[in-house]
Amino acid sequence: MILGKHINRYYLKFLHMYILGTIALVFVDYFQLKVPELYGNVINGMNGAEWFNMEYLIRDVCIPLAIIMATIIVGRFLWRICFFGSAVKIETDLRNRMFEHARLLSNQYYQVNKVGNLMSLFTNDLDTIQECMGDGVLMFVDALFLGILALSKMWKMDKVLTGFALIPMALMLIIGTIVGKSMTKRWDIRQQAFSDLSDFSQESFSGFAVIKAFVKELKELAAFRKLNVQNEDANVSYTKISVMLNILITLLVESVICVILGYGGYLVYTGKFNAGKLVEYIGYFSSIVWPIMAISMLIEKTSRGKASLKRVSELLDAEINVTDAEDAQDITSLVPGGTVRGGIEFRNLSFRYPDGENEVLTDCSFTINPGESVGIVGKTGSGKTTIVDLILRTYNVPDGSIFIDGQDINRLTIRSLRNCCAYVPQDNFLFSDTIARNIGFAFDDIDEAAVKNAAVLSDVDSNIMEFKEGYNTILGERGVTVSGGQKQRISIARALMKDAPILIMDDSVSAVDTNTEKVILRNLRENRAGKTTILIAHRITTIESMDKIIFVDDGRILAVGSHDELVRSCPEYSRMVELQKLENEAGGAENA
Ligand code: ADP
Repeated sequence: MILGKHINRYYLKFLHMYILGTIALVFVDYFQLKVPELYGNVINGMNGAEWFNMEYLIRDVCIPLAIIMATIIVGRFLWRICFFGSAVKIETDLRNRMFEHARLLSNQYYQVNKVGNLMSLFTNDLDTIQECMGDGVLMFVDALFLGILALSKMWKMDKVLTGFALIPMALMLIIGTIVGKSMTKRWDIRQQAFSDLSDFSQESFSGFAVIKAFVKELKELAAFRKLNVQNEDANVSYTKISVMLNILITLLVESVICVILGYGGYLVYTGKFNAGKLVEYIGYFSSIVWPIMAISMLIEKTSRGKASLKRVSELLDAEINVTDAEDAQDITSLVPGGTVRGGIEFRNLSFRYPDGENEVLTDCSFTINPGESVGIVGKTGSGKTTIVDLILRTYNVPDGSIFIDGQDINRLTIRSLRNCCAYVPQDNFLFSDTIARNIGFAFDDIDEAAVKNAAVLSDVDSNIMEFKEGYNTILGERGVTVSGGQKQRISIARALMKDAPILIMDDSVSAVDTNTEKVILRNLRENRAGKTTILIAHRITTIESMDKIIFVDDGRILAVGSHDELVRSCPEYSRMVELQKLENEAGGAENA
């Protein structure tokens, strides 16, 4: 049995099931202990007792035995349903809670905790906890009741013999408790080794193409083997101690049998016991061999369960640090007419990532008017993605530093804030689902015409129509692989279909050719007229016709204005323009 903040509630929630299971188990144990008495009577009867006849056999042995067996079968069925059924329900509920909590954790958490590790929490660790809540509770209850019942019967038959038998059993409990602690630690190490292996495999499979392109298969193999050996060592280390515990328990059980046979034989010899009583006594002891073994298994399971619960608790206790303020309100209830217009203001914002050493943004101030199209440019690492991530409140920002339509984003509910933004992330992640469902991801019911319209605007409709299944083509692992440019355009279509007051595109036309880029930009201009559009780009040509350009350099806003204004007023910007022109000409000459 395992106890802990996140698990105790289930004992209460499923108390009725556990009580019913315990009653069924006690019945089974009670009836099971009637069998040795019947054996003893038969042995004594066979030794020439005059009451031992066919009528006695049927009335006092066969019929009771049949009733006992029937009760045991029904009882076993019942406790299995109660204990194992509860354990499966607990596992499901815990998994839901973990997923729900994981959903609310910030990006920061996922940067530190790798996918493989999280996956093993949802599989291996939950399995272990489930075992503890089913098998573990069963073993605990069974060891307790069957042990006490059998011991009391043994005690009644002979106190001295039972006293002798109890010594090895007490030893067993002491050893089990000490060894159990070491087992918990080793299970923790074993689970960690498994997580590391899962992490590595997950990353290797995801980066398969890169590994192959760099001919690094052997290096990967060597690294995998190393982790696999570590995993094996951790398993062996755990198995060693588990086997040792098992052997010790078996040894102690055998020693109890030696005591019973030796001292019990002596009692028969002195006439205090007869053969039937000794058989009955051994029968009782045989019944508690299982509870004794169960104690060893219980120690093992509990040790593993505690380690797994600790790991799961770490996830459930992980702080949800990006959350709604107590006075947060839906943005639509704060803006006139409930319509978000898409104005954005950054006011002297300085920002450092929670685990970062330096400020990534320093004293940033700029204003984006509702309906403006805005380009953000700057060198790689200058802070462009950070700026747009902060609009979506992916991380916490100081009060009074970012405003949407004049409202401090810290006073808005995160849900309403993100609802008024559509986002095309840099990695263009798509789900293993149909293209239609990917594009219509923001909606529960998919409007086919709207999906097509969004795909036309992002210039990917003709590509999609070339697939045999069209918009019903499944993407990713279970379906077709699309090119980087197609992925990018499907991702743009997904954001366009949301038709939000603010559209944020992070380097979203980098993988398309210049002609396609022109088509997409023209469509954006027409389709998003009057709505705010922010586009991060590397090529100045991509954003030069936008209403406003924000030029970022090393986390500072160097200049804000139209392309022409910036060329005139910002030497760094005009240097970048010149540089890109030269690069284009050099590229053009090379291609010519
Ligand atoms: P850009 O989009 O202009 O290429 P980013 O906004 O992605 O730049 O990054 C700005 C700086 O912040 C970089 O130095 C980068 O290393 C750092 N950075 C980005 N994400 C994180 C993070 N999650 N934790 C710590 N530092 C980060």
